[in-house]
Parts: sequence; C-alpha cells; structure tokens
Amino acid sequence: MNEYQITGKKLLSDDIAVFQLSPVAKELLTFQPGQYCLISDPDFEKPEEEHIFSIASEPENRHHLEFAVRAYGRWTKNLLKQEKGKKLKIRGFFGKFLMPEKCGAAVFLVGGVGISPVISILRHLARKKSDSYLRLFYGNRTPDSAVYGTELKELEKDLPGFKVIEVFSESPGNTDALSGFISRELLTSEIDMQLLPVFFISGPPVFLIKMAGILKELGVPPKNIKMEKIISPRLPFLHPVNKK
Ligand SMILES: Cc1cc2nc3c(=O)[nH]c(=O)nc-3n(C[C@H](O)[C@H](O)[C@H](O)COP(=O)(O)OP(=O)(O)OC[C@H]3O[C@@H](n4cnc5c(N)ncnc54)[C@H](O)[C@@H]3O)c2cc1C
Repeated sequence: MNEYQITGKKLLSDDIAVFQLSPVAKELLTFQPGQYCLISDPDFEKPEEEHIFSIASEPENRHHLEFAVRAYGRWTKNLLKQEKGKKLKIRGFFGKFLMPEKCGAAVFLVGGVGISPVISILRHLARKKSDSYLRLFYGNRTPDSAVYGTELKELEKDLPGFKVIEVFSESPGNTDALSGFISRELLTSEIDMQLLPVFFISGPPVFLIKMAGILKELGVPPKNIKMEKIISPRLPFLHPVNKK
C-alpha cells in the first residue's frame, strides 16, 4: 500500500473529474499501460474499502498517475469533492488489458469512462512513435461526457495509423461525429479486417456484451479479443480481483 496525494484535479462536469496523484514519499511505481489499481481513502467511512480505477496516464510519465473518475455512489461522489493535498492509498498494479508487444493492428471499442486504460495505451504508443494501425470507436451519451475527446483528436496527429470515430447516443449537434451506437455496420465500414486486428473492449458490462456479440457475428476469434469490465467492486461476482 503506497501513499499518494492529489496534485491535480480538473472537474469536467458534475459527475466526472480527472485527478493526478503523486507519491508522497517513494518513487512512482512502474506499471504497464492498460493496468488498474485499488484506491482507498483513509478518511472516508471505511478506510480499508478499496475501489478499482484504471490508470489513464502512461508509464513514461514519472510525475503522477492520472485517473478519470465518474461518480456513481457514495465513495466516488466523495472523491469528486476532494482537492489538492488530499492523501489516498494505492495498491497495485493489476490487470491483463495489455497490448501485446508485437501488435500490428488494434481496434478499441470503448464506452464512457472505459477510455481510461485505452488512453494510457495510446499515450504510451505516441511516446514510442508507433505507426501501428489503430482505430478507436468511442461511444458516449453527449460530447460533454466524452473524457479526453480533444486529446484523442490531437493523438491522431502523433500516431499516423490512428483514427478516432466518436459516436454519441444523443444528437452530437454541430460536430462531425456520428449519432447512435457503435454498430456492426459501422465497424465493417471502418475497419480493415484483413489486418486481423486485436480488439480491446472497455466499458460497462452491457456495452461489453453488445460489442462481444458483434465481434462474434463478424467471426473474430476469442483469442483476438481483450475485455475490461468497468464496474463497481461492490458487485463481488464481477470484481476482477476476486476472480479465482
Ligand atoms: C477494472 C476496473 C477499472 C475501473 N476503472 C474505472 C475508471 O477508470 N474510472 C471510473 O470512474 N471507474 C472505474 N471503475 C469503476 C469504479 O471502480 C466504480 O465506479 C466505483 O468503485 C463505484 O464505487 P461507489 O461506492 O462510488 O459506487 P457504488 O455504491 O459501488 O455504486 C453505486 C451504483 O452505481 C452503479 N455503478 C457503480 N459503478 C458503476 C459503473 N462503473 N458502471 C455502471 N454502474 C456503476 C452500482 O451498480 C450501483 O447501483 C473501474 C472498475 C473496474 C472493475
């Protein structure tokens, strides 16, 4: 368990904030892009209660860990009220939502705050000046709820093989984004399936089920699909850390 403190906070809306956390004493521990950690708040009701958050920063960033947090229940709502200097405990790092070392083509299917592990991977690839074929289908309710929307567009300039396709379930208004949901038709029209890409799905359980169903219809072999389920650890049967 390592002590960290909030060194940066940006409130994006009533229920979403991006936090930067730096270690209080020790060095920032090394992790792999796509991994998550367990965070506890020593001052909250149950100091030992740990909540899972994917790391949004890339391992090359040695100043801080970044997290995009959406408030759902008591713990996350309390976190969103915290400011710089607040101390938190971090245990980690876990998870196998990792990009294979030699991966020529990857497609990311993301719902909402499921973007966290994916932006970590993309930031890491930008640092490595990767020219891999990369497609991101990013589904959100509205442009305002799309965390990292602007940075993802910037990453298109740094990563020559990268394209982001944003889809909003409520009308996107005056943007060039699509309205509706990520569909089979959209994927087949945008992805070069001949490259045999590895698919990364990250988002809430319903989103994972929907996307996995589409990939099955498209004949993508299970070995080419990686999934990260973004869900509350209060649902123990869904909690990845509790899985045997
Ligand atoms: C591998 C992994 C990575 C995660 N990464 C992130 C991340 O980067 N950013 C982030 O904001 N969250 C992330 N989460 C989810 C986060 O851990 C929970 O949202 C948080 O712990 C909820 O705690 P709470 O006490 O505030 O809400 P709870 O009291 O546990 O939940 C309140 C209500 O909201 C529902 N709920 C809670 N979380 C979610 C959710 N994610 N989706 C849909 N419904 C939900 C619950 O079912 C319940 O009905 C991740 C979870 C996992 C398993």
